[in-house]
Amino acid sequence: MINTVEDAIGQIRHIQLDSEHSPEQILHMILAGGVSQSLFNVATGGHQPALQFLCRETRKISHYPVSGGIIKDDEKGRPYFSRGVKDFPANEHQNEFLGMLAASGIFFGTPVTTEQGREFTLADLADVAMKTHSDSVEEPGWSLMLFSLHPGVTSEWTNERGEIWNVERILRAACKLPFGAGSCFGTHVIEGIAFAVSRYCLERACKPNQLEGVWLEAHDYVAHAANLMGKNQKDDGSIPRCWFKEKKYPRTLKEWRESLLDIVSRRFRRARAIVYPTGHCLDALSPLSMFLVPAHPWIHAACYITADTIQSQWLRIGNELCAVTHAVHALKLLGT
Ligand SMILES: [Zn+2]
Repeated sequence: MINTVEDAIGQIRHIQLDSEHSPEQILHMILAGGVSQSLFNVATGGHQPALQFLCRETRKISHYPVSGGIIKDDEKGRPYFSRGVKDFPANEHQNEFLGMLAASGIFFGTPVTTEQGREFTLADLADVAMKTHSDSVEEPGWSLMLFSLHPGVTSEWTNERGEIWNVERILRAACKLPFGAGSCFGTHVIEGIAFAVSRYCLERACKPNQLEGVWLEAHDYVAHAANLMGKNQKDDGSIPRCWFKEKKYPRTLKEWRESLLDIVSRRFRRARAIVYPTGHCLDALSPLSMFLVPAHPWIHAACYITADTIQSQWLRIGNELCAVTHAVHALKLLGT
């Protein structure tokens, strides 16, 4: 098992990351490769840290698909990550970039340069995200990851409309979402909730069974999700897209849809059908890895099939960056 997992993690080195990958793909590579992930800058002909490229260099590239680079200045002169353009996405979902960078363990003092040449740090972008945060955010997973670290899981702040916010308030709304809602079959929401709970346990030096109130509710929400993933696990160890199905047969439209997509995908793109949902489900639980691993033998089987598929089907799966990077990030935390 250990060898298979290490080999799968090692495959990520074979991806030649360069400045022509979309910002979203580069961000995913930082999640898998960590802070030291490097990138080949086609414009300068040199290698550099991928994070540095995202934070300072995209504005310098002539005819960059996101014109002016990915860090923009708002009407008040404050920095934010651009959504990018169709076919070349950057921060497609609110706080996706900052949330994933938080989950990747990067330093928020990292300098950034905006389109107009102003100098800031990632912490300044996080401050703007706090000021502009409101109820309109549809998918709270990334906001939970960001705000659990910056300003912190128990901190309070006031947004520019004068509303008081904290992680608890976002968590309360997130735990009302039905399983499967949101991008990647709802796994990023679970990931955000698990991340917030793990930060809270770390900060309070408590175990999940000592939690109370919304924190207990959030923990139970993730535990219920993990339970369903284990229940819906396939014989080969992989988790289907419809991981959230409560009964034997699909009942809701969403359950039918994901079940059908799963069948089609398993028939025609088997490697992706295994690695994409299994890796995403595992990554959603990975923030709570220290509490989960011994309790769930199904996690072991799911890690194994994911690692084995990445390693043996690399030519089929290696260019599916979103699927592979989340899987590798999960394997690093859960699989060894
Ligand atoms: Zn995803």
